[in-house]
Amino acid sequence: MEQFKGKNILNFVKELPNDDKCKAYLAKYKWQDGFFTCSKCQGNKGCVKKDYKNHCYNCHHVENSTANTLFHKVKFGL
Ligand SMILES: [Zn+2]
Repeated sequence: MEQFKGKNILNFVKELPNDDKCKAYLAKYKWQDGFFTCSKCQGNKGCVKKDYKNHCYNCHHVENSTANTLFHKVKFGL
């Protein structure tokens, strides 16, 4: 999560001018190479749905790409 700390976030946001690109980036960052861990059941089987949400096959929890990142708490209109 190094790149989300401090002033780097300003550069990060500049490079991602809209919500869609930001979500896509976060989804790729969180679930890189298809790796997914459900925040509810810790299951690792799921699939990425449209709008960059991940659906857990085990408990059917739908996790947003912004969950558990800095963006979870910051309001950018995500
Ligand atoms: Zn789950």
